[in-house]
Amino acid sequence: MNEGYDVVIVGAGPAGCTLASLLKMRGFRVMVFDDDKRPGLLVGESLLPTVVELMRRLEIEDRVKEFCTHKPGVAFMHRGGLRLDFFFPEKVLGKTPNYSYNIPRPEFDQLLRARAEELGVTFVKRRATVEKGAGEREIQLTQECLDETPELGGEQPKLLVDSTGRARVFARELGIPAKRGGRNDVAYFAHFENFDAESSRDGQVVLSILDHGWSWRIPLPGRVSVGVVLNKEAAKHHGATAVERLESLIETEPILREAGKGRKRVSEVMAYTNYQLISDRGHGPGWVAIGDSHGFVDPMLSPGLFMAMHMADLLDKKVFAEGKGVLEKPDKLASGFEKVEAEMLDWHDAWANIIEYFYDGRIFSMYEGGSKMSELYGKWAVPLIMEKHMSKHITRMVSGVSTRSRYGRGLVAFGAKHLLWETEPPEYYAVR
Ligand SMILES: Cc1cc2nc3c(=O)[nH]c(=O)nc-3n(C[C@H](O)[C@H](O)[C@H](O)COP(=O)(O)OP(=O)(O)OC[C@H]3O[C@@H](n4cnc5c(N)ncnc54)[C@H](O)[C@@H]3O)c2cc1C
Repeated sequence: MNEGYDVVIVGAGPAGCTLASLLKMRGFRVMVFDDDKRPGLLVGESLLPTVVELMRRLEIEDRVKEFCTHKPGVAFMHRGGLRLDFFFPEKVLGKTPNYSYNIPRPEFDQLLRARAEELGVTFVKRRATVEKGAGEREIQLTQECLDETPELGGEQPKLLVDSTGRARVFARELGIPAKRGGRNDVAYFAHFENFDAESSRDGQVVLSILDHGWSWRIPLPGRVSVGVVLNKEAAKHHGATAVERLESLIETEPILREAGKGRKRVSEVMAYTNYQLISDRGHGPGWVAIGDSHGFVDPMLSPGLFMAMHMADLLDKKVFAEGKGVLEKPDKLASGFEKVEAEMLDWHDAWANIIEYFYDGRIFSMYEGGSKMSELYGKWAVPLIMEKHMSKHITRMVSGVSTRSRYGRGLVAFGAKHLLWETEPPEYYAVR
């Protein structure tokens, strides 16, 4: 006899599959709707060290190693010639691993799904459809969806989870708006062979501040993912199609032209836009949204997969740890979701805050100021100690270890105010 499912998750991306595995480990009966859209190319290829902790929790790191590239840190290159290297030194990140991985996304998603299946999660290949519900269920699966999914035995689940990414399927059905970020960018990206092996040290991701916009280079096994992010209007001057625009951008930006000499594109070109979105509400009676469907700040610094998987982890620890019984306590469920949502909003705010320093150039001015102090005052001087202290905190913040730290945020704000003497002004370094 079919006993029905406790939780039905819509969307088998990193957020949905992580939550599915964690709930299954706690003994919940979990089903995931997977529309099986696995394009050969998907953004989200550079991960933070904090994601490695989640991989370990899911017991998949050994398998990740087999098809992903070790990532020891990130390099920032500026159009004016400055290079800023962030490595993840062990002592600085505390217990968090001092590395991460660059991942071919479709394969990584497939691994997360395979792990959930091993644990006993049921996957149904279907695009789920939902409609407004009533009473204890604000949203529910449509009758058609129930009828065509025999696994459900005609029963609505106790809890529905929206992990449909930017499709925001539940929020759209319920008419819940989202706050848009301030940037009006578009990102074009593709995979290349023979694209600059040199500027990346041992798998480092390279972010470049270009004449217009910025770019990423993510070393993957046998190829490099190259993406350019710029203002939508500026992009229109580079041709009519995504392919034309990416090629033109590589050819006109000196940093990329040099690095891309002899390149061979080995994938289609994808375009992404309107991705800075934070939902006004991420839960209600009988449902919760996680991952991008709850919110995404910006691709700079790569917080996306960490945020998606961390939210699953938080829900698991803070709401579902007591087991299935919590599903029978709507008030407790609601207050748990409220707490997790508040924490996630604080995370989004913290990411937006530190990312802004990279867009407006203050981080580079600070770095220049710090380097000048080291030259002027030598090894033991107070300014140098301070500069080291500052870099330690910035490294911890950009790697996801202490992004929300009030102290770290205050320290960076102080540095941006007081350490910028005799440096180029932030506008010189800003993303244009
Ligand atoms: C330009 C750009 C660059 C980025 N670079 C990075 C990076 O380097 N590193 C990083 O960590 N993050 C990056 N991100 C963010 C990252 O891609 C996302 O944060 C991450 O994919 C979110 O995971 P998710 O599980 O919430 O959603 P998704 O990965 O979008 O998964 C949602 C899934 O739901 C499925 N689905 C949708 N509707 C339905 C339905 N009705 N029924 C069934 N299934 C459905 C979709 O097909 C999809 O498989 C980037 C984002 C952008 C825009």
